[in-house]
Amino acid sequence: MSLSVHDRIELTPKESCNESLPDGPWEFDAAPGYGPGASEADPIPDPVTRPGQLPEEYRSLEEAELQRRIVAARETLGSRLVILGHFYQRDEVVQHADFVGDSFQLANAALTKPDAEHIVFCGVHFMAETADILSSADQQVILPNLAAGCSMADMADEDSVEEAWEDIAEVYGFDPEGAEPDAEGKLPVIPVTYMNSSAALKAFCGRHGGIVCTSSNAATVLEWAFERAHRVLFFPDQHLGRNTARAMGIGLEQMPMWNPREELGGHTAEELHQAKVLLWHGFCSVHRRFTVDQIEKARAEDPEVKVIVHPECPMPVVDAADASGSTDAITKFIAASSPGDTIAVGTEINMVNRLAADYPDRTIYCLDPVICPCSTMYRIHPGYLAWVLEELVAGRVENRISVPAEVADDAKVALDRMLAAKPR
Ligand code: SF4
Repeated sequence: MSLSVHDRIELTPKESCNESLPDGPWEFDAAPGYGPGASEADPIPDPVTRPGQLPEEYRSLEEAELQRRIVAARETLGSRLVILGHFYQRDEVVQHADFVGDSFQLANAALTKPDAEHIVFCGVHFMAETADILSSADQQVILPNLAAGCSMADMADEDSVEEAWEDIAEVYGFDPEGAEPDAEGKLPVIPVTYMNSSAALKAFCGRHGGIVCTSSNAATVLEWAFERAHRVLFFPDQHLGRNTARAMGIGLEQMPMWNPREELGGHTAEELHQAKVLLWHGFCSVHRRFTVDQIEKARAEDPEVKVIVHPECPMPVVDAADASGSTDAITKFIAASSPGDTIAVGTEINMVNRLAADYPDRTIYCLDPVICPCSTMYRIHPGYLAWVLEELVAGRVENRISVPAEVADDAKVALDRMLAAKPR
C-alpha cells in the first residue's frame, strides 16, 4: 500500500476546463448538474435528502484561516479521528490526510485505526459507503460534502440494473431471483460491479452470486467470474470492462454494450447469446477526455516519452499507450522509471501534479492539456473539511454516511468475494 502525506501543490495557471474551478465548489452545489468534467445530464443528489449544507461562514474564510482551523480541530480530536484523502483530491485537502490512496486502499487504511471514532473520507460518496461497510459498527464515516458523488457510479442506478437483470434472465432462461448452475456447474450470468458504484449495487452483486472489482484486480475478478458463469454483466464502467476482457482474449464481438434506455440493451436475443461480457453504458467523465491524438502529440514532441493511462480510458487510448493501470500501478510505473525520463500520464490532474512534485528529477505531465479535475472530488473544499471537523469538536456529527444493515450485509458478501479472489 503506497500511502503518504504530501505538501500542497498549486495547479499551474494554464487553461482550465472552467475558469471558476479555483473559486470553490459553491456554484456547482447550486447548479443542476455535476459541473464541468462530469456528465451534465446526471442528477445531483436530492436537495431534500442533503441536509448537510455548509454554513455561510465557511464560504468566506481566507484559505490560511481554514487551514489553521482544520489543523486545530485535528489536534483537538487526536486519535479519535482519521482523515482519508483520495489521490484525486486537491492538495489543500490531501495535506491533512492521515492516509492518501485509492478508494480500496483507503477503506483498508481505516481498518488500521480501529480506535478512531470518526473516519472523515475526503473522496466521493461510494468510497465513504465502502468505508462504512468495512469499518466497525462504532465508527462513524463522514463525507464532508454530501454532493460529492461520482457521475460514473450514478450511471448505473439500482432500478436500471434490476430491470436489465430481468431482461437478461428472460433471454438466458433463468429465475432473476436466483439462477441455478447448469450441468457444467456454471451460472448463466454473474454480475460484476466496479468499486465505483453504489452500495446498493454491491449488494445486488452479493445477492446474485456476484463480486466487486477494482481497477487493480479486474482481470483476477473476471477470471473468478468465468470459473463460475458463462457470462458477466459488468457495470458501470464500460471501458474498464472492455479493456480488461480484451486483454484476456475476449473478442469485441462478444462484448455488447448494454444501453439501459433501449430494449434488451439495444441488442437482439441472438446477439446476447454470443456474448461473454455485457458492458454497461457507463464511463468516467475525467478519463474519457484522454485521446489518441494527445498521445501522438506527446510522441511527436518527444519520441522518448513514456505514456501510461488509467484503464477507465477508452480502448483506443489504452492501446496507443505504452502501459495502462490503476492509480497504484501508475504510481509504481513512475517509481520504477529513471531520473531524466519523461512520462505523460492519462489520469486525474491532482494525482499527476502530485507525482510530478514527488519526482522532480523526471518530467511528468498530464496528457490532457486542459486542467480538468474530477469535478465531484473537487466538491470537498477545505471549507467543508473545516466545518465537519469543528462540528465533531463540538460533539455534532454532520454528513454521516451510514449504509443500512440489510444493504451493507449483502454488499460485504460481494466485497469479501473480491478479497478472497486470487490471481491464478
Ligand atoms: S474520476 Fe471519474 S470515476 Fe473517479 S470519482 Fe471522478 S467521475 Fe467518478
